[in-house]
Parts: sequence; structure tokens; C-alpha cells
Amino acid sequence: MPQDYYELLGVGRNASSDEVKKAYRKLAMKYHPDRNDGDKGAEEKFKEAAEAYEVLIDPKKRSVYDQYGHAGLSGAAGGASGFHHVDLSEALNMFMRDFGGFGGGFDSIFGGGARGRGRQRKGQDVRITLRVTLDEVAEGSTRKVKLKALEPCDHCSGSGAAAGSGASTCSTCGGAGEVRQATQSLFGQFVSVAPCPTCEGEGSVISTPCEECRGDGRIRKDVVVEIEVPAGVSSNNYLTLRGKGAAGPRGAPPGDLIVALEVQDDERFERNGDDLVFDLATSFSQAALGCEVTVPSPYGDESLKIPAGTQSGTVLNIRGKGLPNLGNGRKGNLYVRVQLWTPQPLTDEAEEIFQRLAEVEGLPPGEMGFGKKFWNKMKDALGA
Ligand SMILES: [Zn+2]
Ligand SMILES: [Zn+2]
Repeated sequence: MPQDYYELLGVGRNASSDEVKKAYRKLAMKYHPDRNDGDKGAEEKFKEAAEAYEVLIDPKKRSVYDQYGHAGLSGAAGGASGFHHVDLSEALNMFMRDFGGFGGGFDSIFGGGARGRGRQRKGQDVRITLRVTLDEVAEGSTRKVKLKALEPCDHCSGSGAAAGSGASTCSTCGGAGEVRQATQSLFGQFVSVAPCPTCEGEGSVISTPCEECRGDGRIRKDVVVEIEVPAGVSSNNYLTLRGKGAAGPRGAPPGDLIVALEVQDDERFERNGDDLVFDLATSFSQAALGCEVTVPSPYGDESLKIPAGTQSGTVLNIRGKGLPNLGNGRKGNLYVRVQLWTPQPLTDEAEEIFQRLAEVEGLPPGEMGFGKKFWNKMKDALGA
């Protein structure tokens, strides 16, 4: 079990992003490989801190983490999740990106100034909730969902520039997209790098914006997204659809669509992981004499033999008719819990027969309590 990100950074669960930033910086300074002679333990701590920071500083990731914990981030259902454990170079980059490293000046931090041409901002991640039925959980499904989304503007092909015009290099940052500032700190000169305020980090500016999108390169549109819901999901799973979020401004890469799944309650079954429980009402005579009944399953009706002499509360098992496991696809079981049904009101004829039955049936054994034993039996049957 990975350590809790809040504990890892030593901040409270409602810490502000400033507090998160400070806590991370303190740890990163302490465990930075440059200050620990390549000590492996320190390197691990440096990476862990970066990972926790990356999640808690991003409001979307943080809210997913708050709701679903580590499981939510690794997106068991999604496969193509945006989250992964950070490696050392990512951890180093993250530290430099947000804090500019410590001392040594710009060139040493960025390895000789080989910077790309500006930094394009990514489109936003879009988060939706998708309700699915138990039958969809059993079989998996493809859902089409209508969204109002930010899509590239047709008029300017997403560039944001009016026809016949284009983007020109930003004069404030010379196209780098960043401005840097050197300040003195405890550890010597501290270089901070911030996005250029003129071009907002893009490195270029548009002189004549497109009229349709006002230079943003995007417009709001109705789109239909197809979502593959894998079999076996539950309400704590979410799917990440890479690049299906909002388009990025002026041709920048799109964000992701994050689909939180909500499995609707099913009137027929109780769900217990991959297993289902169905309550079957059985009459005295059915239970006493035995019978064949039909019970529902997510895959259609199943016939089931109730053996003669079945007690109320008995749990029968229809193997492999539960839900598929999300990980391995193996199906759980469908448990049928026998519940004795008492006829009410009694017809005259039935009453007569019950009177007669009462004379011959004898009394139930005293030790057959329905207290603790009943639940033990239930737990045994469910393997709990
Ligand atoms: Zn446009
Ligand atoms: Zn600029």
C-alpha cells in the first residue's frame, strides 16, 4: 500500500496549494540527488515527494485522490490512465519547473539552454459522471454521451488567427514562453521561471484574432463521445479517455475526459464484489417437498433445484453467474437466499390443511435458532 500523499508531505487534508508547495519544496531540497551524493534512499524520497506533490497540487487529481485514493489515480478500469509513478528525471524536471532548481543559474538547470519554442498550454481535463446499470456491468457496454465541449475552431483551424494573418514571436520573452527571475535564498541564488505574462507561455502572439473564436482557437460545440465501459466495473472506478477533454488553445494538445462511473442499484440483486445475492421467496410446500424454480441472473433466467427439506435462510449457489472480475474477467457467483413465504390471508381450504398439518408436523427443534447461526451460515456461503 503506497503511503498517503498528505502524510508523505506532512500536510493536513485541507492544506492550501501554497502549503502543499512549501511542504514539497522542503522535502525536495532535503532529498535532492545533488545534495545527497546519489544516495538511493534519498532518491526514493525525492521521487515520492514529487509524486505526492504532482497529485496534490493539481485540483483535479487531488479531488480524484480525495474521493478514491490511490486506486482512483491508477484507474484500474481505464487502462490508459494519465497517472503513473514518477521516475527520477520527471521528478527533477518537476522540481525545476516549479522552483527553478537551486542556484547555478539558468543554463546549468536546463542543460545549456536547449529550450523548446515556448510552452503550449494543454486543454482542460473534463470530468463527467456516467451511470451504468448492473446489466451493463455484467456484459460491458459502449455508451454514447453528448457533451458540450471546447473543440478546435473551424474558422481558423484552431490557430486563433484571422484569415491571412498569423502568429508572431512574442517580444517580451523572445519566443521562449518563459521569463526568469533570480532571487537570493538560503541556498544561494534561486532562479524562478514563470510563464511569460504577455503570451501566457506560448512564445507567440496573434495580432489579428479570428472573429469566430476571438483568438482562442476553440469554440463550444455539442459533441458525442463514445465510451467503452468494461465489464466488472464498480462505483469506485473511473475511466480516462486520453485527449477527449477540451481542445487546447490555439492548437495546444487537448486535455483528457475523466469518466467517473456510478453503478445504479439493481432491484433484483445485492452486489458483493463480483458476487450477487438474490432473495427467493419459497412456499412451505416448495421448501418441504423440493421443486424447480426460475431465478433471474444478469445473463437471463436460470433454473434452480430447491432440494426437499430446504430450511429458510439456506443459501444456494449458482456458480459463475455473478459479475465478471474487472481484472481477470472470471465471473463471481449468484447466491440464492431462500426466504420462506407465509401465505396471507389463508383461504378456508388452506386453513383447513394447515390445521391438519399442525396436528402431524411436530415442533421445530429447539436448537435451530435463527440468531447467530443464520448469519454464520450466510457468511460461510459468501466466503466472507
Ligand atoms: Zn477561430
Ligand atoms: Zn512571451
